[in-house]
Amino acid sequence: MTNKSQNDNIVAGATPPGRSALAIVRVSGPGCVKLVGKIIPSLSNLTSKSARRLHYDFVLDADGNPIDEITVIPWFAPKSYTAEEMVEIICHGGFAASRTIIDRLIECGARIAEPGEFTRRAFVNGRISLSQAEAVIAAIEAKSELALKAAARNLKGDLYREIERIRSGLGDTLTLIEAEIDFSEEEIDKTSSDKIASAIKEQYDKSIEILNSYDFGRGLNQGYRIAIVGRANVGKSSLMNALLKRDRAIVTEIPGTTRDTLTEWIDLDGFPILLTDTAGLRESGDMVERIGQERTREEIENSDLVIFMIDGSAGITDEDREIYRLIEEKSLLIVINKIDLGLADGLDLDSQFSGKETVSISALNGTGLGELEKKIEHILSIDEFNLDTAILATERQYRAMKNACDVLGEAISEIDRGSTEEVLATFLREALDNLAELVGETTSDDILNNIFDRFCVGK
Ligand code: GDP
Repeated sequence: MTNKSQNDNIVAGATPPGRSALAIVRVSGPGCVKLVGKIIPSLSNLTSKSARRLHYDFVLDADGNPIDEITVIPWFAPKSYTAEEMVEIICHGGFAASRTIIDRLIECGARIAEPGEFTRRAFVNGRISLSQAEAVIAAIEAKSELALKAAARNLKGDLYREIERIRSGLGDTLTLIEAEIDFSEEEIDKTSSDKIASAIKEQYDKSIEILNSYDFGRGLNQGYRIAIVGRANVGKSSLMNALLKRDRAIVTEIPGTTRDTLTEWIDLDGFPILLTDTAGLRESGDMVERIGQERTREEIENSDLVIFMIDGSAGITDEDREIYRLIEEKSLLIVINKIDLGLADGLDLDSQFSGKETVSISALNGTGLGELEKKIEHILSIDEFNLDTAILATERQYRAMKNACDVLGEAISEIDRGSTEEVLATFLREALDNLAELVGETTSDDILNNIFDRFCVGK
């Protein structure tokens, strides 16, 4: 996004074009209520007193003829999404209404908004932090109710407030250290050194807790990948189908994944899971050959968990053993299928797969599927998740937090080594810089552009 002026009036459709009952056109910028008043008479003489009241009216063309029947909400600064004067026009859906209204507003002096420009203005105007702006994208892209709820917490500013508390704690400690530097020629005395150490440690522990939340943030936003591996006819696609019936299938437009018989998104306790039946990745060859082939190998490599399936009624074959050798280093769940047929004589799972999680199921009649899901949740640590703590939602936030944690960790070791206050102060300033970057106070234009370019126009 180019650095366009903040002072002009921007306009965009907030809903995608296409057959629908209603659509929304948004306008933002100083004096935009008056500008919209040129095409919607009920807004022409409006003062902030009637702000946020819904008006019913018609949009007019240049000759005063009606274009569309609408309702319209004016918002006056700073109580709007962008913290500027804003108007939201609710018109008819389809292709013509919103397009024509946008064209009319451009004729009257507005310009078309760039992707994310409304949210960028909210950020630049100080209404939201960068982590809240990122939560807007997370909410739009959420693939499950839980992901939406996590985004909503960050939208409310929970993550921002937790980071601010850490910043304030570190800021106080830095002030303490700086006072020592100013007033003392001597080394840090034991009492204040202990006080400083415990204050830094406290913020370090909080920071680490937030850092670890990214495992869940990543899982909720990007999902987990599970590859189902096993020789032909053990029941891999039957398992895919069985899980799809039990758990909610997610309809999604994640680039690079198609909804076909090889990969399917399911919602497992609120977490999006991409299931891949690796047998479908190649037309021919047995599974051992397939694992040697690039696509299957990559799929296994990129997965967070591999489900290794064997046919319990047939026992463990040489091919099973060969496949197992190729994948045993991965995070693995061994699934013994077809238990409805009875287990083969002498099937000794412990000696074959010692130390690995196993579960017995029948993909055909559904026995053991609940336990299978529980084991998946346990291996992926999904079962430890609760919404009580704010979570890091993006790689950018994670990096900034990781840098802050690393620097605080070094500061703590420095105290143990008996370092000077100057050295400690340097570390604390660096950690504070990282946290300022996390909330967007000192973030470079390139990074901001990267974030807001991911938005759709109208948001
Ligand atoms: P894949 O080649 O590993 O994908 O295996 P499929 O899912 O196509 O299953 C192969 C055959 O085993 C099919 O005839 C399935 O109906 C059957 N099958 C799959 N799971 C079970 C099971 O739990 N019990 C029984 N009895 N048959 C199963």
